Amino acid sequence: MKFKKSEKLYKKGLKNLVGAVNSPVRAFSSVGGNPLFIKKAKGSKIYDVDGNEYVDLVVSYGPMILGHRHKKVEKAAKKALKNGYSFGASTEAEIKLAKIVCDAFPEMDKVRFVNSGTEAVLSGIRLARAFTGKDKIIKFSGCYHGHQDALLVAAGSGLATLSLPGSKGVPEGAVKNTLIAEYNNLESVEKHFENDDNIAGVIIEPIGGNMGVVIPQNNFLKDLKELANKNGAVLIADEVMTGFRSTFGGAQEKLGVIADITCLGKVIGGGFPVGAYGARNEIMENVAPIGGMYQAGTLSGNPIAMAGGISTLTELKKQNPYDKFEEIGNIIEIILLETAKKYNVDLVVNRFGSMMNPFFTESKVTNFEEAQTSDTEKFGVFFWEMIKNGVFLPPSQFEAWFLNSAICDKDIKVIANAVDKAMLAVSKI
Ligand code: PMP
Repeated sequence: MKFKKSEKLYKKGLKNLVGAVNSPVRAFSSVGGNPLFIKKAKGSKIYDVDGNEYVDLVVSYGPMILGHRHKKVEKAAKKALKNGYSFGASTEAEIKLAKIVCDAFPEMDKVRFVNSGTEAVLSGIRLARAFTGKDKIIKFSGCYHGHQDALLVAAGSGLATLSLPGSKGVPEGAVKNTLIAEYNNLESVEKHFENDDNIAGVIIEPIGGNMGVVIPQNNFLKDLKELANKNGAVLIADEVMTGFRSTFGGAQEKLGVIADITCLGKVIGGGFPVGAYGARNEIMENVAPIGGMYQAGTLSGNPIAMAGGISTLTELKKQNPYDKFEEIGNIIEIILLETAKKYNVDLVVNRFGSMMNPFFTESKVTNFEEAQTSDTEKFGVFFWEMIKNGVFLPPSQFEAWFLNSAICDKDIKVIANAVDKAMLAVSKI
């Protein structure tokens, strides 16, 4: 496999783009080597500029749940494009997408569309503060909620990968209202509530996806909701990653808990820039123009993005691929575990439906600290062997792999073959 054109573009890109990328994890820093440049994608495959074909387990970090260039999504986007790209005024498409989203969440009466997951969460946090009249927010170490200042504390994903202690450029004042707790540890949250009566909300990824995949144990989420509400705070579910991926709707329902505020992104735009936050009327009516919490956006509810979202969610509902995801996810999980056993490699696989990832460790992984026991050098070797054998993975130990509904049996064979080669390579270091 050759990467000559990618290497050339990388060098060229360095001149006018920081690290030749527009989002840090794309730089492949944590796995070594240069980033790949992508030319096109179709269905379950993605192709780089050198013409290499990969089974895509990144799918744009989640959004392309139907696979790339689904014909119905493409048709809808093209149709919308012909009517104009942006109006700065309302369209019927926004009402349609809002209904699909609200209908999928048991207690969501209203939703507000924004342009990214980051925006969804920063608005959701502001709403929690507006609704409760309180200031502080509890977040969990290893959870990532976008790059807003207040939540760039103990965040996972790119930050975990690059070992940055938060971020430069975030003033102390911006994080003084952020309290940190440990995932799957209710006591660590209780302590904050005992010491502070100014807590507006607790924000959580219902399935952790930015420290690798981490699953809430026992009744953690349910207990968290009760604890927050008992103390006059709200539970904010950041379902940017899990929304419409775990079930049609959120992971919350599957986990038996309904958050007060839900943040969405990724899948709801089907690859176009869409984020959203929603809640019951009592909470959402704090948002302008009805309430006093200001939040706005020039391109919010963009007609092309709305068309992408409506067509993606409509097709997703029709396909209902969640049982298939469970089945394929389980097969890949078994492939990983059995191959690791064959080559005597310590491996833990965490999976929730179509989100999964392997950790090169012996111990269970239920929080960020445990996730960090994974051997990232081994992951780097594993990653490049997977690439060389035709599987595109997120270039980080701490990012989830995502399935899409276009994956076929042949792709699973490609994955199995690549895992065999990759695990063998790992066993030699
Ligand atoms: N929340 C979660 C849980 C995420 O995974 C992400 C992105 N990976 C975000 C928020 C931020 O979304 P965006 O990158 O669209 O701003």
